[in-house]
Amino acid sequence: MGKVVNCECGETVRAADDDEVVSLVEAHVERSHPELVGKLSRADILGMAEEE
Ligand SMILES: [Zn+2]
Repeated sequence: MGKVVNCECGETVRAADDDEVVSLVEAHVERSHPELVGKLSRADILGMAEEE
């Protein structure tokens, strides 16, 4: 089962598993939401993710 995060900016981040979605969302945050870097924990990111 994959994971998907629909970011509030409109970007959709898709990944195969928890570890991948966390790293991809962290990379997206660094690129697009630098003000949030360091504020989203792994649990926060997984809380945003939906099963797909
Ligand atoms: Zn975003």
